[in-house]
Amino acid sequence: MSHRRKSIVAGNWKMNLDAAKARSLTEAVAARAGEAGSVDLVLCPPALYATTVAAALGLAAGNSASGVALGGQNAHEKESGAFTGEVAPGMLRDIGSRYCILGHSERRTLFGETDATVNAKVKAVLAAGLTPIVCVGESLEERESGRTEAVVSAQVLGSLAGIPADDLAKIVVAYEPVWAIGTGKVATPQQAQDVHALVRSLLARLSSPTVADKIRIQYGGSVKPDNAAELAACPDIDGALVGGASLKADDFLAIAKAFG
Ligand code: PEP
Repeated sequence: MSHRRKSIVAGNWKMNLDAAKARSLTEAVAARAGEAGSVDLVLCPPALYATTVAAALGLAAGNSASGVALGGQNAHEKESGAFTGEVAPGMLRDIGSRYCILGHSERRTLFGETDATVNAKVKAVLAAGLTPIVCVGESLEERESGRTEAVVSAQVLGSLAGIPADDLAKIVVAYEPVWAIGTGKVATPQQAQDVHALVRSLLARLSSPTVADKIRIQYGGSVKPDNAAELAACPDIDGALVGGASLKADDFLAIAKAFG
């Protein structure tokens, strides 16, 4: 499948693994990254293991010989200060990260993040020189009551408000229907493509069609090796944000290969 945009496949490890497993999974992915072909690969470990993963990738200034990049799962919107337990975007950058997931549905639903919070974090992460992976997506109840378009539109426009076009051009958006995350219920390619096309039209409204055409939009929600190819075939799906299946090198690489 050849796309206008280079695909990006990111693994969100969430709060899983230990240091030894984080290291061995990283080594396995790095050693076989070439199997994925032309796709950007990103590993997003728990913050505490980010340095372990950075070392296993041999990261120097965000570049690794394997081409696999490091990302955070979240970051605080301030540069430093009295924010016990938090991680600043500059710290992620300092240890070699290039990306940071923001506004994941678990952050929104379990930790009270609003579009305004996500917007502040997007600005802080961009200011630190990282690429935000901005997550949006509707709940089952919102989909069933016909509110998908309204909910996703509000999230995209709210989370990305006030971001200049040249910064918008650098971001990644992840469409993750909440009902598909960790449930085994993947969106159909048509359901996903429809929302991806909507997201791209909103990005065009925030910048221009030319800029929106360059922005990569990932799909996330129960992506597995056996459903990745049909998602990758959709014109506006430019990669995947992978939870459960990213914890196994074989599955993660098979998904990446479908997008490569
Ligand atoms: C996620 O949490 O970003 C995700 C997509 O999880 P899963 O692949 O396990 O559904």
